[in-house]
Amino acid sequence: MPAGWPPLVRYVADPIGQLFLRLLFMLVIPLVFSALVLGVVEIGDPRSLGRIGAKTLVWILVVTSLAVTIGLVAVNLVKPGQGIAPELGQQIMAQTGERAAQIAAGREAVSGIDILLNIVPRNPVQAAANGDLIAVMFFALMFGVAATVIRSDGTRSFVATIQGVYDICLKLIDWVIRLAPYAVAALLFSITAKLGFDVLVQLARFVATVLAALAIHFFVVFPILLRTFGGMSPLGFFRGAQPALLTAFSTSSSSATLPTTLKVTEEALGVPRRVARFVCTLGATANMNGTALFEGVTVLFLAQFFGVELSLVQQVMILVLCILGGIGAAGVPGGSLPVIAMILAMFGIPPEGIGLILGVDRLLDMCRTVVNVGGDMVGSVVIGRSERGHDAEAPATAATPG
Ligand code: ASP
Repeated sequence: MPAGWPPLVRYVADPIGQLFLRLLFMLVIPLVFSALVLGVVEIGDPRSLGRIGAKTLVWILVVTSLAVTIGLVAVNLVKPGQGIAPELGQQIMAQTGERAAQIAAGREAVSGIDILLNIVPRNPVQAAANGDLIAVMFFALMFGVAATVIRSDGTRSFVATIQGVYDICLKLIDWVIRLAPYAVAALLFSITAKLGFDVLVQLARFVATVLAALAIHFFVVFPILLRTFGGMSPLGFFRGAQPALLTAFSTSSSSATLPTTLKVTEEALGVPRRVARFVCTLGATANMNGTALFEGVTVLFLAQFFGVELSLVQQVMILVLCILGGIGAAGVPGGSLPVIAMILAMFGIPPEGIGLILGVDRLLDMCRTVVNVGGDMVGSVVIGRSERGHDAEAPATAATPG
């Protein structure tokens, strides 16, 4: 890094980037809550909710399975873990210091039946304070369902208030997004300045495998799905989706990108609001194609490096775990790392091995987050189209100005 750069990064680029991230994160909780409550109320009757919910679930499971399969095939073909000398690997791991050990230790926090139980918050305010989005979503969904079932004056004014919260959030996003060109440049500048180019070269085959698999999913699978089931030209999609994809790339966070994703999906991609709110909001944490693919590649890469043989049945188990891992990982930078540590430990691969890839994780995180957010938008387009015939079912009460 040139001598004059560190202060520039520390006092200019970093603060501008962080300010942008904080402004986006500030909006996530009110937005997730209001978008989901309104999404459920707008969908209206429980049957439509069940139908859209089931379509979303099928979409997540099928498209994530495709992504992980692409990753697993790629890593089995290239075998990037076999080319690295053990001494070099140890040296790279030693550079990451405490962080790998912390992630490995943190894996216990995400294991077991607790993952399922934690979906239901004991205290929704605390869940919101901890940024536990899945728990907040569960609470919002329940609230929305109850508000749909009881149509009293009280619930109607509650829904109108929530609509106000949502509209205010969208206006604030409008303002924050105006900072995007400067903030994205600042974020990219500081990330590039900090990137370890040496490690990048040493792990070039691993990085290339992840990027190639992500590119196949993004540039081949998504366009096919868009054309076949979404009735939309892939070029038109990428043009419209660009602001959200760029935000995902620079923030490495699906949650921080959610405000932009929602706006773009409704306004530029023309997805019906009731579908966009529901699918994108749930998708921001539950639909992570890029993350699941990355988890699969990384687990197999580390198994190859440590010489752990995995049978086909074990690889199928890894596939299933990665699909669940894509649903369970948090939409924040590095959100998938504790999940990877957990899967590694389950197959007798040292979880501290995650240290091997930490040096290149940020770059890969930027790319997989683009695929995650892209997947939410493609899913919204496809599900939105399949709902066209049911438009008349949407209750008029929820229609409001954007
Ligand atoms: N950064 C990713 C996201 O927010 C999660 C991960 O793969 O670490 O979508």
